[in-house]
Parts: sequence; C-alpha cells; structure tokens
Amino acid sequence: MSNSTSHPTTFASLNLAQPLLRAIEDAGYTQPTPVQAQAIPLVLAGGDLLAGAQTGTGKTAGFTLPILHRLAEKPAATPGSGRPRCLILTPTRELAAQVEESVQTYGKYLPFKSMVMFGGVNINPQIKSLRGQIDILVATPGRLLDHVGQKTLDLSGVEILVLDEADRMLDMGFIRDIRKILALLPKQRQNLLFSATFSDEIKTLADGLLHNPGLVEVARRNTTSELVEQSVHLIPQKLKSYLLSHLIKHNDWKQVLVFTRTKHGANRLAEKLTADGIRTRSGHRHAAACGEFRIAQRARRLRAPHRPHRPRRQQRRRDLAGRQRRVPASQGH
Ligand code: AMP
Repeated sequence: MSNSTSHPTTFASLNLAQPLLRAIEDAGYTQPTPVQAQAIPLVLAGGDLLAGAQTGTGKTAGFTLPILHRLAEKPAATPGSGRPRCLILTPTRELAAQVEESVQTYGKYLPFKSMVMFGGVNINPQIKSLRGQIDILVATPGRLLDHVGQKTLDLSGVEILVLDEADRMLDMGFIRDIRKILALLPKQRQNLLFSATFSDEIKTLADGLLHNPGLVEVARRNTTSELVEQSVHLIPQKLKSYLLSHLIKHNDWKQVLVFTRTKHGANRLAEKLTADGIRTRSGHRHAAACGEFRIAQRARRLRAPHRPHRPRRQQRRRDLAGRQRRVPASQGH
C-alpha cells in the first residue's frame, strides 16, 4: 500500500479541472480538508483507494471531485441509456440522497447526469429515469439489485466503484448484496472504499476488492469522534447518581443525555436529580429506551457475530422499507 502524506493547501494545486474549481468556489470552500488533500491526488492518478474517514471530514467531496474530473477527462467508451460509468453504493437512502446532491453541486458546470436510487419508494420513476443517460449512479444495494433483476440497469459500463460507509453497509447485513453487485461489474475498474472503522470484515472485503490501494486515514482505527471528550470515573455503584448530580452542578452543564441500563434505573435517577434541583425532562424515558436498545443490540452481536439469519434480516429490511414508505419521500429524481 502506498501512503500519501503531502498536504497541498489549495484546490488549484490539486490540478482539478476548471469547472470543478468554479463549483468549489461557489460552495465557498477555501481549502481542501485533510481527507480531500490526500484522497484527491490518489483518485486522480487512477489507483484504488482505501480511506478511513468519518462523516464530517469532507470525504464526499474527497471522492466526488476527482471522479468528476476523471469522467470529464475521457468520454464513455460505449455510451448507453441506464448504463452508469460510476457507481456509488451507500448504506442508507439518506446518505445516497446526500451524496447525489454533492455530485450535482460539484458537477454543476459539467454535462454529467446523476441519479439516486433507493428502496421503500415506487420503482417506476426510477425505471423511467434509467431510460435516459446516467453517468453517475448513487444507490443502496437492495434496490440496485431489484433493477438488475428487472433488467432496467446495465452495470457493464462501470469504470469507477465507490463503497461509501462500507462498515455501516456490513453492519446492516449488505455483504451478500455487495458481493452480488461486484460480480456484475467489469473486472477492469477503479475501486474506492470509505469506512469509518476497520473491522476484520472490512479488511477481508478490502483485500478482495482493492488492488494495491492508496491509503488515506484521517480517523484512526476504530476511534471515536475527536469532538467528544471522554472520561471514566470508577466509583461504587451506590455513589453514581451522587457523582452525576455533582458533575452536572459543578460543571454547570446545561444539556445532558444519560443512558441507563433499565427504564427503572432511569426513573430512579431522574427522581434523584429532580430532588437535587436539576430539571429532568420526560425524555429520560426515551433515553432509557435508547440505552436498552443499544445494549440489547450489542449483546446480540457479541453472542453471534457472524450469524447470517438471512430470512430474519430480509424481513427486517422489508419492515424498514414498509416504514420508509410512510415517510415522505426525499428522493431527488
Ligand atoms: P462529508 O464529510 O462529506 O459529509 O462533508 C461534511 C461537510 O463538509 C459537508 O457539509 C460539506 O459541504 C463540507 N465540506 C466539504 N469539503 C469542504 C471544504 N473543503 N471546506 C469547507 N467545507 C467542506
């Protein structure tokens, strides 16, 4: 693996095409973020990339800008309708919509057509869009495979593949779908993998997918956000609520979110804080529920980390899709 550590300080020094520099200027960006400064030259050079970057680091522009540059450099070998040159896979529809918006923002002075595709919404408008030119497709894996099944999408022209938030995709059980999609792509292509964390599963995926990738790491392996300061207080159980009460008062904290193991524990804690003159909201019930949920989830994962349980996962996805259908559609196209 090669590792780029140089940090050019302007977008112009990254040799991006003029239409991109204009769009960047319109967006008001004055300087590339670290992930952009490192990733853009590597992607422009045409190699594969393994990037450790969380949301908020500017990673989307880190791959979108050089992809647009590369697509603009040479015309499609065999242009065709519903035949994207770049495929960006994301775990959720929200992220898909966000990424496609970035493609439009940065590509506004270029002639490319982009499209966002996700499940939980009517497939027909997507089928209609696929009858036209699509250069960049941003999609969630499930709906993408639905289109492949219906032969409304042709993946044989994909030159660049991006797996965005790959760790979340694996967490959400998309690994089989990803493998199916990879099998449909041309062998000769550029692969970019973005992930906030690097589990063994991600490493296995990266090893099979990437060829001598450039490495960019702006978030260290499995680290928490640098914006969050963490501390641990080792004290007897019965003193915990006293310490919490003290910390809130002493630090004059205005907003505090507390996770407890049980709802009962949340109620007791709320009573104690109220007695100490600290205002607690009825939201503590919600916090307790969140706490329970997260702990339950974690315990389940620890018990059976590789449990495939396909039928149940599919059911859960169907449930989710059903729920999403009731949410007003945020689809761009
Ligand atoms: P991302 O990590 O891709 O989700 O981006 C996080 C936010 O940073 C987005 O709102 C971008 O518009 C913004 N952003 C991306 N690149 C830059 C930059 N070079 N300067 C300032 N803001 C940026």
